[in-house]
Amino acid sequence: ATKYKVTIVGSGNWGSVASKLIASNTLKLNSFHDEVKMWVFEETLPTGEKLTEVINNTNENVKYLPGIKLGKNVVADPDLEHAVKDADMLVFVTPHQFMEGICKRLVGKIKGDVQAISLIKGMEVKAEGPCMISTLISEQLGINCCVLMGANIANEIAVEKFSEATVGYREDKDVAQRWVQLFNTSYFQVSAVQDVEGVELCGTLKNVVAIAAGFVDGMDMGNNTKAAIMRIGLVEMKAFSKLMYSSVKDTTFFESCGVADLITTCLGGRNRKVAEAFARNGGKRSFDELEAEMLQGQKLQGVSTANELYEVLNQRGWHELFPLFTTVHEICIGRLPPSAIVEYSEHPPTPV
Ligand code: NAD
Ligand code: 13P
Repeated sequence: ATKYKVTIVGSGNWGSVASKLIASNTLKLNSFHDEVKMWVFEETLPTGEKLTEVINNTNENVKYLPGIKLGKNVVADPDLEHAVKDADMLVFVTPHQFMEGICKRLVGKIKGDVQAISLIKGMEVKAEGPCMISTLISEQLGINCCVLMGANIANEIAVEKFSEATVGYREDKDVAQRWVQLFNTSYFQVSAVQDVEGVELCGTLKNVVAIAAGFVDGMDMGNNTKAAIMRIGLVEMKAFSKLMYSSVKDTTFFESCGVADLITTCLGGRNRKVAEAFARNGGKRSFDELEAEMLQGQKLQGVSTANELYEVLNQRGWHELFPLFTTVHEICIGRLPPSAIVEYSEHPPTPV
């Protein structure tokens, strides 16, 4: 019988937790090869050691997930081509801005019948419009790509606190079930829905709403204001998703990838945290500076997604339909003050 070989492309905060979940399952399930490869973007630690060597010696990603054992069957590999060449299943989990470059490097380097899944929240924007990361992977590499999104703050799953997640698939239900098997544990409950676009847009767009929620926190505006911003954000998420893809299902917004991820990210995520600091500083310190200082190498997705979304709204002439999305970007670039997050209806966006 086939034993699928799994490689994880990415080893940040969530990438490391994903490797822990997967590695515990490949040991238990006969249909998967025990060893899980994890491609690591190599770096030298302050001690002078290479991150990959430390992961392989201590079984811990000391930089991005300190204190958590990944499983002895996780093997870190700094060589991307080497890490993917025998894989039957590829799990993509890097910050979204690096994926275009990674895809280019993978062309012709993977098996023809490989299945992929993206845990990445974000999009790229081309002249012809937005391109979701799973589509980028699918088109550049000529492979099928599912997505997994959900209310999944990595550090909480790392210590095995209960949560749920949603796999989005296009057609092949059996493949989706194989991904569910690979990720599902007693504390990580995964279900599958046939709506790749809806699931991926939920995961991507909620990061922009989380920036707005952080602004509200930074101005001490209280719970009602924050709930209002989350509600308006959810309405814009749904409207945008349906305008982009008429196939997106209403029910997807009630899955873990929808309202639950929006809530957890607006309460406890990195986007919220850094946006709060941005507003507390009155917008005087840039997101890049705050990200570098507060996140120690981890990356925000919401600020760049707001920018990418703004480009799409420009392309389509949709700014008036999405005042919250528009305002978040204008605050991020310093065109509006953080307080504009609750005044946007009185300040129509400046045409560009
Ligand atoms: P992270 O924020 O920890 O990002 C840091 C990673 O980026 C490190 O592995 C680093 O080595 C790598 N990196 C830095 N420069 C690079 C380059 N030039 N090329 C390639 N890689 C480079 O990463 P993460 O938390 O694993 O997030 C990955 C994706 O998962 C994101 O889209 C994020 O939105 C999503 N996600 C994160 C969480 C979470 O709680 N952390 C939860 C759900 C989804
Ligand atoms: P942050 O990147 O804002 O921490 O959000 C994490 C996440 O996507 C939780 O599901």
